[in-house]
Amino acid sequence: MGYLHCKLRLLVLVMMLIPQGVVFGLANGTGLASDRWFNQIEAVSLVSALLLALATPGLIIEWLLGKPLEKIRCFCFMVKQGDYRARVSLPNESRDRDDEDAITLLMRDMNWMARQIELREQELKQVVENLEQSRQHIGKQNQALAKTNAELMVVQGRLNERTTELEEAFKQMQVMALTDPLTTIGNRRCFFDTLEQQFAALICTCRPISLVMIDIDRFKAINDTFGHEAGDRVLQELARIIIQHSRENDLAARIGGEEFTVLLPGAGSQEAVLVARRIKAAIANHNFELADEQRISITVSIGICTLSQTPCFNRDNLYNYADQALYHSKNNGRNSISIFDPTIRSVTKVS
Ligand code: GH3
Ligand code: MG
Ligand code: MG
Repeated sequence: MGYLHCKLRLLVLVMMLIPQGVVFGLANGTGLASDRWFNQIEAVSLVSALLLALATPGLIIEWLLGKPLEKIRCFCFMVKQGDYRARVSLPNESRDRDDEDAITLLMRDMNWMARQIELREQELKQVVENLEQSRQHIGKQNQALAKTNAELMVVQGRLNERTTELEEAFKQMQVMALTDPLTTIGNRRCFFDTLEQQFAALICTCRPISLVMIDIDRFKAINDTFGHEAGDRVLQELARIIIQHSRENDLAARIGGEEFTVLLPGAGSQEAVLVARRIKAAIANHNFELADEQRISITVSIGICTLSQTPCFNRDNLYNYADQALYHSKNNGRNSISIFDPTIRSVTKVS
């Protein structure tokens, strides 16, 4: 633009100065050259030519570019308003593009840009539409998932309740499987399970283990005299006494009809004898209440065995040796305590 402006200014200046020069040249040497008025008019003409040379190019450029610029301005305004379908109307569409002036080329490029923006906008609209559809689809799926999740939570809740109930029932069954229903102390299975566990634990610690085996003397006669129910009451009462006089970590169990055991992990023979004596004395001093407010006293025979870390440290030996000691008591007048010594494999009556 500045270059065109300069060229035009030079052209107008030349066009104005040439006639001035010609007139001045022709007047030179004539009387006019010395004429004061002629010189003044000449000076004014020169100044006018200069002023015209300065002003005219701007006016011409404005005249030439005014219309296209106005079109471009309108076009820009419409694009700013968001009308990307707006186009600048080109002066001569059919003309060969190679000799188009810069402003027309600019207008054509602007049209091309507007077209590109329009296309991008259409694409964007399509993308936004697709996104909106996807959002709605996901929203529906989320709702369905939330519903399914809520249903699952309900089922999960029921399952948890059921699992808790089953676990509770299983625990009760385990307790029942190890409990004697009549006396509510450990049963035969409980005794042998514990015996096995204690043996496994004691094998590593070199500590002894003792077993006290208790059998009611002539229990059949109690049943026969007072009835089976009375016999049951004696068994229940006896279990209570045995528990009461055992140590905290000992296991009292009913392993047969009127046969009880106390397993004493970690206890040596002296300690086992003490416990056995305590139980025997408590039984002897107790009046067993039967039906019809009848009371009887009973006696028991007791067999003891203690095993330490010896070659015979074996759970079957412990049980068998205690049993042999018990029968030694039975065969030696009952109401007594006998102890089996595994080192000499013989039984001695201790009280
Ligand atoms: P001993 O002094 O030799 O041990 O004689 P005992 O009569 O105690 O022994 P025996 O083995 O001859 O009899 C045991 C009795 O125990 C027989 C059975 O009727 C009774 N008995 C076994 N289990 C129960 C039970 O659960 N309740 C009752 N009331 N009696 C039972
Ligand atoms: Mg008996
Ligand atoms: Mg018996």
